[in-house]
Amino acid sequence: MDFPQQDPAHRTLTVVGGGVIGLTCALAAADAGWRVRVLDAGAGERASWVAGGMLGSLGEGIPGEEASLALSVDSVRRWPALVTRLDDPGVVTATDSLFVAASATDIEYLRHLADFVWADQPGTGAALQPVTGRDIRTLEPSLSSRLVGGYRAVGEWSVDNRRLLEALRATATTAGVELVSARVASLAELDDLGPDAQILLAAGLGTAALWPGADLHPAKGEILRLRRTRWSVPPPGHVVRARLHGRAVYLVPRADGVVVGATHYEAEGVADRVPQAGGVADLLADAIEVLPGLRTYELTEAAAGLRPCTADGLPLVARVDARTVVATGHGRNGIVLAPGTAERVLSILEGVEE
Ligand SMILES: Cc1cc2nc3c(=O)[nH]c(=O)nc-3n(C[C@H](O)[C@H](O)[C@H](O)COP(=O)(O)OP(=O)(O)OC[C@H]3O[C@@H](n4cnc5c(N)ncnc54)[C@H](O)[C@@H]3O)c2cc1C
Repeated sequence: MDFPQQDPAHRTLTVVGGGVIGLTCALAAADAGWRVRVLDAGAGERASWVAGGMLGSLGEGIPGEEASLALSVDSVRRWPALVTRLDDPGVVTATDSLFVAASATDIEYLRHLADFVWADQPGTGAALQPVTGRDIRTLEPSLSSRLVGGYRAVGEWSVDNRRLLEALRATATTAGVELVSARVASLAELDDLGPDAQILLAAGLGTAALWPGADLHPAKGEILRLRRTRWSVPPPGHVVRARLHGRAVYLVPRADGVVVGATHYEAEGVADRVPQAGGVADLLADAIEVLPGLRTYELTEAAAGLRPCTADGLPLVARVDARTVVATGHGRNGIVLAPGTAERVLSILEGVEE
């Protein structure tokens, strides 16, 4: 395929979608000298707004998904530069994660991941430290005494996803990006952009309605937000990812509390965004078993979001035609993969890679 060679003085990019992927790509393009505009339909359909905000490379590494894990490990390395660029250190809510288990079977599962999945990733050996139940309570005194052990992953961060979106919007605006509230009904609406204009389709699940080649399905996830009261124990300093009797639950710190997530199952369609009572009940019960002091937190939000997933579990980042590039299908890893995706999109736009 021939790539468009635009005059650097006239490189213009229209990004469709203002979630974490669209905004991170828009900022990277503006920083590289492109004139950028983002068209976005609003927060109602935005998975980035609902998410937990874990930069979970190892934590999301499961057997059979090694290629996805390698992409996440690569993108995690680019996160410190993105945070520096955003100039808002408050975006980062934890710099390390604890993987903890409640039974011998649960710890066996974690050991299997550590030995056969995580161990193959370059640089993860030093970052992964086995911990006993006693170590867990030294690191996080509020966690349950029923937790028998696990691993500490040094450098496995989390971010406040909502603060991140605000920081991306503010930084992009300062860099000259124009943010426009608009739903694009069809790519034909963008036909008058001129011969030199490039388009980035980064509309998450909404991409499929604009380009049928995006074969996406929604994976629903319930997620809770809890706020500390003045009687409560403080939120954990680590991301806590627990295995409890075969089920997974995570606690992601925020300045004022924790985010508890997340369920994961097939959605009934792109409008299926209401949390079910059973999902909320399981998350609450498991989170309180891990951190009993959560009982005195306020439950401020129970939400459900739809992860934009591809059939092979890998993001779809590619050139579609001479003027259009697509970046979607990031599934449960869109936040962690944002800076890696932005770098790839820029290489494609500039003709360095296909
Ligand atoms: C419960 C839950 C927890 C999660 N936790 C994590 C986590 O801890 N870490 C992690 O890395 N990932 C997590 N994810 C996944 C992550 O949220 C997604 O992968 C990521 O948000 C996808 O980003 P995006 O920008 O592609 O899509 P979105 O965030 O969905 O943004 C798409 C944007 O495009 C706009 N749009 C859609 N159609 C149009 C149109 N036609 N015209 C104009 N604009 C349009 C929408 O309004 C929206 O603003 C989680 C997801 C869920 C549901």
